Amino acid sequence: MLKNVKFETSVFSKDKLVKTDLKQIVLVGKSNVGKSSFINALANHKGLAKVGQTPGKTKCLNYYNVNNEFYIVDLPGYGYSTMSASEKANTSKLINYYIENNSNICHIFFLVDIRHKPTNDDRIMYEWLLEKNIPFTIIANKADKIAKTKIDSYLLEITKALFAKEEIIAFSSQNKQNLEIIENKINYLIK
Ligand code: GDP
Repeated sequence: MLKNVKFETSVFSKDKLVKTDLKQIVLVGKSNVGKSSFINALANHKGLAKVGQTPGKTKCLNYYNVNNEFYIVDLPGYGYSTMSASEKANTSKLINYYIENNSNICHIFFLVDIRHKPTNDDRIMYEWLLEKNIPFTIIANKADKIAKTKIDSYLLEITKALFAKEEIIAFSSQNKQNLEIIENKINYLIK
């Protein structure tokens, strides 16, 4: 469990990005994939990040301060069409600016839904991550919805669809499977 996780701020524009020397771990993934639940599971605090908000509503970066040691930064979820074209363009500009002007980002967790083939947007995100040259981990969330015996074959489907070379970690914020693996990884990353 990560101690002392506090929501700090929501940022909608690049001039408001948090200026800090602390390391940052970033979350990306489509709306509703479970990024808020992921933060709550790490913090062991159900109400910390708001779960199940109207998909696509969040156009901002949400900063979570972890024990004044590092930040977890939740980027806007993609894949819902409720945003207008200009809102989408502004959001992706903000995300690109944040990623490209921030040497404190030490890792990105890319969440996908274990049950579904990656969407076109997921594939675009994967390509984007490769381009950015920041270490990342793919997490297949909602693994509690799949029989344990079938998890490996679902992971293989995602690997194939993304042409991914990285190992994908099955995860569930519901039954906490592999939570310890993620926590250990984070503890290692922020050393
Ligand atoms: P976000 O939009 O990526 O922040 O996604 P949320 O964390 O708000 O989750 C969206 C929905 O998926 C909510 O109804 C959650 O309860 C559900 N959810 C998230 N993670 C899991 C999980 O690991 N297992 C199951 N069964 N449901 C999950």
